[in-house]
Amino acid sequence: MTGPILNNKKKNKSKYIIIAIIACVLLIAIIVTAVIVNDSKKEIEEQSKPNEAVEQNIGEDIQETEEDASSDNKQDESTPAEENSVQETEQPKTDEENTTVGGYIEGQPEPTEPTYIDGVLIANKKHPLPSDFAPGENKEARAAFEDMAQDAKAAGFELVAFSTYRSYEYQETLYNNYVNRDGKENADRYSARPGYSEHQTGLAFDVGEKGKEDLWLTSEFGETAAGKWLVENAHKYGFILRYPEGKENITGYMYESWHFRYLGVDLATKVKESNLTLEEYLGI
Ligand SMILES: [Zn+2]
Repeated sequence: MTGPILNNKKKNKSKYIIIAIIACVLLIAIIVTAVIVNDSKKEIEEQSKPNEAVEQNIGEDIQETEEDASSDNKQDESTPAEENSVQETEQPKTDEENTTVGGYIEGQPEPTEPTYIDGVLIANKKHPLPSDFAPGENKEARAAFEDMAQDAKAAGFELVAFSTYRSYEYQETLYNNYVNRDGKENADRYSARPGYSEHQTGLAFDVGEKGKEDLWLTSEFGETAAGKWLVENAHKYGFILRYPEGKENITGYMYESWHFRYLGVDLATKVKESNLTLEEYLGI
């Protein structure tokens, strides 16, 4: 009797081994599937993250921008004093949520005049500029920047304004390139559509540190001593950090540690002390 019992035990043993092997194979299959799914998820996430790739590529555009800026720096018409709130009244605020795409008002017609609110020239996703609005780099803003750069140098940083005035046409080329590369939805988060860029006002200065070109157009610049010095001191020269961190839903743009807007010392100081974005400060 011992023989058959042993045999049975052996059979049972091999059964268990087969079951164990099948279980192992299934387990491995599940793990492999999970890894593959996770990987493709990561890929998708990375594709929808424009930042790093963009920053590298923008570097290439900077040269062009500089050329563009200097060639367009011809005439500097002084800012018209009269206010123009036509844009304001034409866009009912209640409809905004239904009609905005990426912060823009879909189908918004090109304006004939730039918008001034409380005497401040506005260019944002709700208030575009006419395509023929081409003031060039603002001379007062440039002089203020040079003052600021001089004081920054004394503090140990050499500041560079690597992109200032951009024409409508140049912005058009820039934006279309980004759309072709990253898609419209992504491009809208970091690049303005033509007519909507604050750089067309001649009052926006993209600032970086000389010798640290790899940090130009990155959020890391905001963490450098130079970036911090700017945030603390720019208003004394009339500039504000225009797109602060965490205000994307208000300004329409993600955090830009490098983008400064000239408002004049008075207003820049008030805006800085209010801790508000320009949109919030002006109530637009
Ligand atoms: Zn900028």
